[in-house]
Amino acid sequence: MEVILPQNKMIQPNLADTSSARRPGLVYLIGAGPGDPELITVKGLRALQKAQVVLYDRLIAPELLREAPSDAELIYVGKGADCHTLPQEQINALLVQYAQQGRTVARLKGGDPFVFGRGGEEAQVLAEAGIPFEIIPGISSAIAAPAYAGIPVTHRDYASSVTIVTGHEGKAASPPVNWDALAALGGTLIVLMGVKALPHFTTRLIAGGRSAQTPAAVVQEGTTIRQRVVIGTLEDIAARADAAGLSSPALTVIGAVAHLHDLLAWYEGADQQRNIHE
Ligand code: SAH
Repeated sequence: MEVILPQNKMIQPNLADTSSARRPGLVYLIGAGPGDPELITVKGLRALQKAQVVLYDRLIAPELLREAPSDAELIYVGKGADCHTLPQEQINALLVQYAQQGRTVARLKGGDPFVFGRGGEEAQVLAEAGIPFEIIPGISSAIAAPAYAGIPVTHRDYASSVTIVTGHEGKAASPPVNWDALAALGGTLIVLMGVKALPHFTTRLIAGGRSAQTPAAVVQEGTTIRQRVVIGTLEDIAARADAAGLSSPALTVIGAVAHLHDLLAWYEGADQQRNIHE
């Protein structure tokens, strides 16, 4: 079995034997978990082990790809947080085409497929094409990366709500994020896709009335051996993350729970000194 790693060019998909007469294959939309390859579900792993074709994203651990059958076709579709190698429409079309060949398809997505994973769009396309599919939820980075940084997203003493929001408000068609409302809401805020936008949304939250002293953390590549954590406040977390050179994939935790990192940090990845403290 050939494993095609993300840095490689996508191989040319073999769609030659498309036959509309054949019964379509089953497509599994699988949440592969946040990074640590052992954080895929048992169900997700079993589905992967049955796949004839695997379409996978940038953040999928290579160890997981080795779990596919040795004769499975592995196709990197390169959809990461910030760089989309293949437009979503092409990924959708590939899913449909492979299924129409009667093959069992595993669509491996980072974290959970329905949490900012565009799994909803892929499922819609499959449903519209009459292709059978199963959704296998995954452990989202939104919960797991804070957990590996020793930050519980809710806590009886500190936070009764957790809100997961995108920091990347690129598309005019998407509903905008109401930062003023989020500032007023309190609780824990988890911002995905937002390392570059950190100065923007932290400023917006302070302007909206959230205290500048609110604890904050940025977790890069959480749950992997490369995990890095930067701790600060709403006021200085953007500068601290920048100074530490943090980059995507990373998420930001804002709220009183972030200070628990100091007490509860337990995961040290491969390098005991990776975590960056004040
Ligand atoms: N469906 C995914 C999220 C996809 S959006 C999930 O449920 O986890 C991609 C964003 O997720 C990244 O920009 C980053 O903000 C976050 N992310 C994904 N993996 C991460 C990780 N290991 N550590 C920190 N953030 C991560």
